[in-house]
Amino acid sequence: MWDVVGLGEVLIDFTPAGWSDNGNVLFERNPGGAPANVLTALSRLGRKTAFIGKVGQDQFGRFLADCLGQNGIETSGVVFSSDTSTTLAFVHLNEEGERSFSFYRNPGADTELMSSEVNPEMLRNARIFHFGSISMTHEPAATATLEACRQAREYGALISFDPNLRPALWTDERSAKEAIAKGLGYADIVKLSFEEMQFLTSANELEEGAARLHEQYGTPVILVTLGERGCYFHSSDYSAFVPAYKVHTVDTTGAGDAFLGGFLNKLLEKGGRLASLSEEDYVEMVRYGNAVGALATTKKGAIPAMPSQEEICEFMNEELSRYME
Ligand code: ADP
Repeated sequence: MWDVVGLGEVLIDFTPAGWSDNGNVLFERNPGGAPANVLTALSRLGRKTAFIGKVGQDQFGRFLADCLGQNGIETSGVVFSSDTSTTLAFVHLNEEGERSFSFYRNPGADTELMSSEVNPEMLRNARIFHFGSISMTHEPAATATLEACRQAREYGALISFDPNLRPALWTDERSAKEAIAKGLGYADIVKLSFEEMQFLTSANELEEGAARLHEQYGTPVILVTLGERGCYFHSSDYSAFVPAYKVHTVDTTGAGDAFLGGFLNKLLEKGGRLASLSEEDYVEMVRYGNAVGALATTKKGAIPAMPSQEEICEFMNEELSRYME
């Protein structure tokens, strides 16, 4: 049995890393992709995880599969494409330090995953199935993603969804909204930002937006993460804001994925069934997610910054004793 099976994109993030002696920008080859980050956070917490996705039969694809494996993630669901290259994203920093991206994905191997390449046994044996919307921007991966959701759900898995809206990857906003709406139709747990909530519901108030999502799509658990402020959760019976921890932040990449990994880990610890959860359970799961998210911002990168169970326990205990003083 897998605690969490994640399906979606895994790609190279080339991030600026200084200058060469010749005065040219240097880029560092980092593994990227939100579902892989979530699985890494979970495997670092001792969970059994597996990844399903497609990479190119090239140096980058092999590097990515190796990274997943080294992080304790099962890689037998990784498919290698012989005719499409691994997706690459270059991060550019302008003089003000603002980030922009260039994607090399015309097409990228991640968009070429086919339903027939998804192992149904993996879906049958998943306690939680996690996915995002980046694997829904193009066919055949869009159909493969939704079909895998449908099957995993039929087999009894809880479905976790991070809409992870990246407008540059869609032809237009309408297609993005339509695909995300389909994803929401399957999801038991959705994690999104305030801006994504606004995009989907047109609501400008947190409570109103979350309630609208709940009504419109019947999503049982909605987690709106608010960066350094914390997270607002809305479930069928309870809703509350849980403040973030104060930390010395170095890099926020992957904070949302770390948060979700933490939340899902606690949910599994509590039996992995939504029906039996109390308000205290929700607060505890979100607080734990906040701690994992906060710790992930104290180191550079996403995958290398995912904290261990010991680090989280120590951090939460220290925070608790500071609070009690
Ligand atoms: P995303 O990375 O998806 O944009 P957020 O930035 O909202 O997600 O971060 C997810 C969670 O991580 C937040 O809800 C919060 O608990 C924690 N977090 C993020 N940034 C910080 C920060 N600067 N300080 C403390 N906690 C943070």
